[in-house]
Amino acid sequence: MNIAKVGFVSLGCPKATVDSEHILTRLRAEGYLISASYQDSDLVVVNTCGFIDSAVAESLDAIGEALAENGRVIVTGCLGAKGDVVREAHPKVLAVTGPHATDEVMEAVHQHLPKPHDPYTDLVPPQGIRLTPRHYAYLKISEGCNHRCTFCIIPSMRGDLVSRPVGDVMTEAENLVKSGVKELLVISQDTSAYGVDVKYRTGFWGGKPLRTRMTELAEALGSLGVWVRLHYVYPYPHVDEVIPLMADGKILPYLDIPFQHANQRILKLMKRPGNSENVLARIRRWREICPELTLRSTFIVGFPGETEAEFQELLDFLQEAELDRVGAFAYSPVEGALANELPDHIPPDVQEERLDRLMLLQEKISEEKLKRKVGKTMTVLVDEVTDEGAVARSHADAPEIDGLVFIDQGTHLKVGDRVEVVITDSDTHDLWGDLVSES
Ligand code: SF4
Repeated sequence: MNIAKVGFVSLGCPKATVDSEHILTRLRAEGYLISASYQDSDLVVVNTCGFIDSAVAESLDAIGEALAENGRVIVTGCLGAKGDVVREAHPKVLAVTGPHATDEVMEAVHQHLPKPHDPYTDLVPPQGIRLTPRHYAYLKISEGCNHRCTFCIIPSMRGDLVSRPVGDVMTEAENLVKSGVKELLVISQDTSAYGVDVKYRTGFWGGKPLRTRMTELAEALGSLGVWVRLHYVYPYPHVDEVIPLMADGKILPYLDIPFQHANQRILKLMKRPGNSENVLARIRRWREICPELTLRSTFIVGFPGETEAEFQELLDFLQEAELDRVGAFAYSPVEGALANELPDHIPPDVQEERLDRLMLLQEKISEEKLKRKVGKTMTVLVDEVTDEGAVARSHADAPEIDGLVFIDQGTHLKVGDRVEVVITDSDTHDLWGDLVSES
């Protein structure tokens, strides 16, 4: 019997990866095979990203390559939501859907490649098909966003916030843990808004009531016995509630909280909350409650109208806040974003110069902070084992975006092991450690 084979190209952010996993899971559940080559596939699904211009170009290239190599292509993802961009560049694609559209993608697949007859040939594990390594997994809790930050077009592509039912999220998390996952990375566009759209409705998990709300969800996830890491936490006041859970060891003492800027006028232009003094006071309070807390944030440099003095305020804030991890980007206009209409766009050379200054400052802060960890004992999770040793991460490091902990004598360890190390050395982003004990 010839089983229908689908090729899959997955681009974009972790949220897009989760969409890909849902589509792949449905494909396998219905008996399709997933093929690793264009030539061997009966059609190809390309999950695209449309966030910034370079991502649009990469997505259009990927569609072009799939068309050239295979010819039968279904496009999904953020770029698909951007009007006619895909069809104008590639009129021969079979279908185009937006992000978070598993049903529409499956409809298009059924139309162009009939369902295989025997859905029992390949049973799908309950945790679904995942694209991340076995020991960590992204857990998407909602889709869309109710904010309208002026530099962002995600709400126009993905719509307003829609929270997944808390029982479904918990069941998925449990299945992931049963399948061997040691770390759950909670993602969404706006994690702290979880449940706002359903008025924090009470759902059920394991027969017990559970509110659709970040704090309650974090506490329930913390009971599963694995690392739980919160990403994309918008700085609402109620974020303060999760800090005690971190101090009690229920979830990782790690907060990925994009502040974007420190100057109030720029924040207002961005339609973001907060001012730097309040934020600094909050950070101080968080650290008093949970001294181990790692803070990751992102900032936009050279936003339209940003003066040298306003940029300096951002540098002063960083100096004072001593954040552990910082991602910074020079502002770039995204088609359709309101900020494009603002006056006084900053010339690219000034933006780059400011970005360099910010990164240099942050590197010094990071180096200094990591140096203070030398001599300390910490638990790390092994990501990779080579002939030379093991590569791991501590609670302070999210996969792919933060630092690493290298263990020279770790060649006998296994991926997913949790071990204790004493830190022996550090540089700007990473640490080195010696094994203490294994658990
Ligand atoms: S909160 Fe995030 S996703 Fe929502 S509009 Fe702002 S930047 Fe975009």
